[in-house]
Amino acid sequence: MSSKNILTDTFGRKHNYLRISLTERCNLRCTYCMPAEGIQLSPKESIMSYEEVYTIAKEFVHHGVTKIRLTGGEPLIRKDAALILEKLASLPVELAITTNGVNVDRFINTFKDLGIQNINVSLDSLNEEKFRHITRRNYFKKVHENIFKLIDHGFHVKLNCVLMKDFNEDEIIDFIRLSENHLIHTQFIEFMPFDGNKWNLDKLVSYDALMERVYHEFSKEQVLRIADQPNDTSKNYQVKGYKGTFAIISSVTNPFCDSCNRIRLTANGQIKNCLFSSTESDLLTPLRQGKSITPIIQKTVQAKFKSRGGMDTLEKLKDPTLHSKNRSMITIGG
Ligand code: SAM
Ligand code: SF4
Repeated sequence: MSSKNILTDTFGRKHNYLRISLTERCNLRCTYCMPAEGIQLSPKESIMSYEEVYTIAKEFVHHGVTKIRLTGGEPLIRKDAALILEKLASLPVELAITTNGVNVDRFINTFKDLGIQNINVSLDSLNEEKFRHITRRNYFKKVHENIFKLIDHGFHVKLNCVLMKDFNEDEIIDFIRLSENHLIHTQFIEFMPFDGNKWNLDKLVSYDALMERVYHEFSKEQVLRIADQPNDTSKNYQVKGYKGTFAIISSVTNPFCDSCNRIRLTANGQIKNCLFSSTESDLLTPLRQGKSITPIIQKTVQAKFKSRGGMDTLEKLKDPTLHSKNRSMITIGG
């Protein structure tokens, strides 16, 4: 690792976790992620090639990144997804992926061959009609089947479930019960504001509201709090005797910025020092010009705000003039 430690910010946070978005495209249209009118895609030539993804990732690994997660858009719709996985798996990192699960069956052997163990699959409802409503597509059976294929093949599967009031909060217990006999970890995610997703605090199901439902169903003695790992973004729990676990990622009501170790690379080669940041830095242009990207990475890390891209209070987060300066989630990558 470089002695200058360019991935440490002014608050002493070390950024050893890089999330790379491989594409802005997706085969689903989740309402909370993709605006109804769609998004303006970057021109094809400004999307990173697989070599560019690899070169930038290698630079981050050189400076101390030990974990890379691929995301999108939907990472598994890129034609060269397997090639990118192969290139990145050659780096000394833990490689993980977040996917909507639609194409997962085609990649099971690739994941196995490359030693990729950790697969997060997004699933917001266990009900086919609700799934269709939220994703605006008809892939429920496919995704459900693929999740169980991954489990049968021994992968570590986490389900990402974005909670929304009057939509899927009534399914919290059903999701938790899935982990009674299956090694499934469900991560409930508080609905977050991004450009075009019609966010409103009234739609949020908070950490407190989730736990209220949990304790309505199970006694306090039945619900075990699992110790946090360093840099955990989630609060983890297990129902006594259940095989799997559940967690909540409460970025809105309970931000975990103090221990944040993440940096994001968008599909068009921009780095973002925070999911909520309204600014980004271009790495792809200088890379293509043969210039060093190291100073840009360092400057971007140094510019990181203490909390949520500067939206350090709920009031600021609620202000659409602030949160709408950010990209839509589909072009950041979660
Ligand atoms: N297509 C892949 C998928 O759906 O898993 C990867 C990209 S997606 C943007 C990554 C994660 O971000 C998903 O788990 C999704 O549920 C989450 N996400 C998207 N929009 C969100 C929002 N407004 N609030 C909270 N989570 C969101
Ligand atoms: Fe696509 Fe994932 Fe966004 Fe849904 S959450 S639209 S699957 S990128």
